[in-house]
Amino acid sequence: MSLEDVYKEVILDHYRNPRNRGTLEAPPATMVEGFNPLCGDELTLYISIEDGRIADLKMTGQGCSISQSSASMMTEAVAGLTVQEAQEKIDAFKQMMSVKEAELSGEEEAEFGSTGLGELEALKGVVKFPVRIKCATLSWNALAQGLVETGSATTFVESEDGDVDPSHFRD
Ligand code: ZN
Repeated sequence: MSLEDVYKEVILDHYRNPRNRGTLEAPPATMVEGFNPLCGDELTLYISIEDGRIADLKMTGQGCSISQSSASMMTEAVAGLTVQEAQEKIDAFKQMMSVKEAELSGEEEAEFGSTGLGELEALKGVVKFPVRIKCATLSWNALAQGLVETGSATTFVESEDGDVDPSHFRD
C-alpha cells in the first residue's frame, strides 16, 4: 500500500465516520459558521473554552470529502490544546497547505509526523489541486475565527506564504 493510498484511507475514514460530530449549547460555547462557495461546503463549529484550553468542540456540516474529513481531523487534533497551541496547529496546517509547487514535484514521501501534524498530513496531497485547498482550510479558518470570538486569542495570527523553518513545528 502506497503512502497515497494510506492518505486516501485516512480521508475516507474521517469522511464516513466523522469525529466530534454534533452541537454544543451556544452560548456558553462559541458557534462559528463557515461556507466555501467554490465547492458548496458548509460547516458549523462549536467551541468550548475552559481555563484557556479547548475543553470541547463539535461540528456539523455537509460538503465534499476533503472539507468534512479535514474538519473531523481538525477537531481531533486540537481538542484539549491550549488556545496558543491550537493557533500553532492552525499555522502549521496552513503552512502545509501552502507548500510550493517545486516541493511537490519532488514527490517526496514525507513520513507521518514529520510536520508534527500526524494524520493531518493525509491532506497534504490537496495542494496539488488548488481549487480544493479552500475545502481543506474551511474548518481551520472557522476555528481561527472562533478562537478570536471567544476572546481567548490575543492576536489573530494569519500564516504567511514565506519560508518557515519546519523544525518549528516539530514536537
Ligand atoms: Zn469541498
